[in-house]
Amino acid sequence: MNAHGARVRCLAIASRSCSGGGTRVRPFSARRAALVSSITPDPPCDSWHLAEDTFDVVVSGEAAGLVTRLGELIGTAACESSAARAVRRGLHQTASVPGNWIAASVHQGVVREVVGSTSSSQDAPLPAPSALFGISTVFDVFDHNPTAHVFSDSGRGCIYDCTFCSEGMSAVGSRPQLDGAAERLYGQLATAATIVAEDHPVRKAAAFVEDSVFLGGSPRAIERFVTLARAHPPGGTFGCQFTIDQVLARRDLLIALVEVGLSYVFVGLETSEPLMIGGLSKNVRPQTAWLHRMEAVLAFLSSAGILCGVGVLFGLGEDQQSRLRLVSVLERWRTTYGSPCTVSFNWAVQHPLRGHDGGRNYRYLDWALPNTDWISAFEPFGEASALYPLAGRQHPRLSEVEELRGAIETLNRSNLDTAGAAVSRNH
Ligand code: SF4
Repeated sequence: MNAHGARVRCLAIASRSCSGGGTRVRPFSARRAALVSSITPDPPCDSWHLAEDTFDVVVSGEAAGLVTRLGELIGTAACESSAARAVRRGLHQTASVPGNWIAASVHQGVVREVVGSTSSSQDAPLPAPSALFGISTVFDVFDHNPTAHVFSDSGRGCIYDCTFCSEGMSAVGSRPQLDGAAERLYGQLATAATIVAEDHPVRKAAAFVEDSVFLGGSPRAIERFVTLARAHPPGGTFGCQFTIDQVLARRDLLIALVEVGLSYVFVGLETSEPLMIGGLSKNVRPQTAWLHRMEAVLAFLSSAGILCGVGVLFGLGEDQQSRLRLVSVLERWRTTYGSPCTVSFNWAVQHPLRGHDGGRNYRYLDWALPNTDWISAFEPFGEASALYPLAGRQHPRLSEVEELRGAIETLNRSNLDTAGAAVSRNH
């Protein structure tokens, strides 16, 4: 509600990454946002068409400066009957606000965009979100302790640049900022520990590092971070993301990270057979089968006492049998390794990707799940859409998604059984 009594709706949007964008794993990262109505599973009203005023403005990107300008627009809307309408009408006035962002609103069935002045984009390090907003999230992998979202800001885009991912560097900018990244991350972890000590004195601090891959995967930056954290432990425990091949190539570094608080690693598994989907750019050691390497990751992380979560992404071009096989492999791994403890299932959605959308040019004006059958079938998924498949890929079939839902529910039950067995063994 603004000062004039008009409701101004705000939407934090997310992107798909190694973490799978799974709401079941962690809240979306609003910083690397992509405008896709398809991530919203439920329509806000009876219509499956996105109403003009469903969202006032959707902002994607580094909008620290834009927030202030939008606030000014709302403030000048005293004479307007609707502050939201005033903001939509005045959106073009924000174009001079520096930053790597896009703002959009819907007018008469057309999405109007305003793009920030990237030539003067923001290079100053951003403050730790926990210092500004406190910590209200908890992750079960951290024993439900308050969990901060922390960033090294080591780069805008991920170097692997997977074609389906909204964090790829071709979509969000390619300038790595590795200088000072270890220090920034260390500072954010230390800040999070301080905030938890002040706001939640009986809890322990936890944090999830939101880098697409931890410190850009740079061994030098990771070593620097370990040096800092060994000298003055930031306090608390943390999790982060690596690719399968990074884990296998940096085992010594991961063990060093455990000493300074690492307890959880999230890995983007995506698919069982990268060749079937035309390859994965992060699959940099294809001499050994993808699933064999993932199993080696689980064996290593388990031996190092690190919990593991994985992201699975269907809709990349695989067939239904391969999907079902993958779910049963996950079940076998849980029995063998007690891991992955968390699986985020997603169905690949074509994001706008600032024009790198394979020529799809979706308008995104219809809700991604067009009826309750689809909502029900995709219930165990994080990001999913029946309407916006990746460029060159088929739309999902309802019967297949329903079959997958059954397999995933069986997997989740086996998870509970495995957890129960682990508890029994411990007692
Ligand atoms: S490795 Fe690929 S899927 Fe993972 S964050 Fe990077 S670009 Fe995205």
